[in-house]
Amino acid sequence: MNVVTILKQKGTQVTTVSAATTLLEASRKLAAKRIGAVIVSDGEGRVQGILSERDIVRAIAQGGADILTAPVSDIMTRDVVTCSQDASLDDVMHTMTRGRFRHVPVVDAAGRLTGIISIGDAVKHQIGEIKLEAEAMKEYIARH
Ligand code: AMP
Repeated sequence: MNVVTILKQKGTQVTTVSAATTLLEASRKLAAKRIGAVIVSDGEGRVQGILSERDIVRAIAQGGADILTAPVSDIMTRDVVTCSQDASLDDVMHTMTRGRFRHVPVVDAAGRLTGIISIGDAVKHQIGEIKLEAEAMKEYIARH
């Protein structure tokens, strides 16, 4: 299964913030949308960074709650690992496991955002594939 198949089901909508957004505003967006990360993007859909709930928790632990008035650009991860729509689900899961993160933005050839895959999306589709395989094997065994 490829990323494009997952995006066809879940949609291509990505929650983004600008680099100047405060950590408080970004936290409110994460809470309102019930998601674990936002993509920091310029006005043209290019990825500048990623901010996950873990970054915010770490920043508060280090700097106290006052840090919430700081801009996202102060703590976001700038070196973002992305994938293309052609990437396989296996590739994305390996990328997440190797990098120890749970979100991979999907970009087109021009580097513009076209979706995001979370660990939740990946696991859901992986389980779906395993169930289909199991059904096919049961059917095969029943017939032979
Ligand atoms: P997460 O597991 O997605 O909550 O992220 C854990 C850490 O990895 C945080 O510091 C994120 O900013 C960072 N991170 C998340 N996704 C990516 C990614 N695709 N590329 C690089 N860093 C990431």
